[in-house]
Amino acid sequence: MKQLTLILISMLLFISACAPVAQVAPVPVIEAATGTPSPIPTVVFTAMSMKTVTTVPSRTMTPAPTDTPTITPTLDPIRSTPPTLMLHRPNLQFDSLFFLKQFVNILKYNEMKVVTYRYIYEHPEITATEKGKLFIITIDDIFLAYPIDFRVIEMIRILRDAGYPAVLGVVTETEYADPKTAAFLKGLSDSGWEIATHTDNHRNLGKAEEASSRLVFNEVSISMDKIEKVTGIRPITLILPEGQMVNNVKAIQQMNIYWIVGISDGVTYDSRDKIIYVGREGPYKNAGETYKILKMRFGF
Ligand SMILES: [Zn+2]
Repeated sequence: MKQLTLILISMLLFISACAPVAQVAPVPVIEAATGTPSPIPTVVFTAMSMKTVTTVPSRTMTPAPTDTPTITPTLDPIRSTPPTLMLHRPNLQFDSLFFLKQFVNILKYNEMKVVTYRYIYEHPEITATEKGKLFIITIDDIFLAYPIDFRVIEMIRILRDAGYPAVLGVVTETEYADPKTAAFLKGLSDSGWEIATHTDNHRNLGKAEEASSRLVFNEVSISMDKIEKVTGIRPITLILPEGQMVNNVKAIQQMNIYWIVGISDGVTYDSRDKIIYVGREGPYKNAGETYKILKMRFGF
């Protein structure tokens, strides 16, 4: 909240800085940034007062239940995909670590509940009952055979500190799994994070399918085997390399994949389907702009 206020103040300052020169007043010094912090009001609850105020509600106060039959609300099977952010490790063009710090503040401010695809699979009703409150964060291109980029570790730490789980798109590649990476992923998986397959060799599955359907099977199912070996949980989510979808979705379903995650479209889905395609959105300019775009695209 405080940070947002500061952002707002700096935005206002920026706007005023863009005004014609003649109108620009001297920039006021903001005391809040450098001054001593205002004292935090302390509220003291004593054990004594807690005890004395506790009142046990009398049972007789409760109105007797009527004979009205309980109406089970029927949930619309057509659901909105929770807005989903697609992240990669920071690079020279984009500092996703800095971006994520800002983005987490926005999610907190808007009281969004961050979930995973697996969580929705296990609690399918929530996309109806908690529509507009859910959010998914994915980080792609984590390679099982190599140490995880330290900036990605930092991104993961930020999410953990915020109490948010995320979905990690893991590329398995070789028979070898880096022991540290494997242990780290297992720990995350145990604490409710989702380890999704991002295929064995980060292969464009649309192109692979043109060559041979066997190639698609190998890319997905071998990768699932390797992830299961490390985490003890067989993935149910496939993150498509380059967002490229296949034609034969049934073949993917037969591998017991439930979520196919791409980039374009996929803002709604039919919860009765056996396999579901969902889309995502990458970062745009800054956290605030990206949140706005996600809001427009996923309509929450
Ligand atoms: Zn990728």
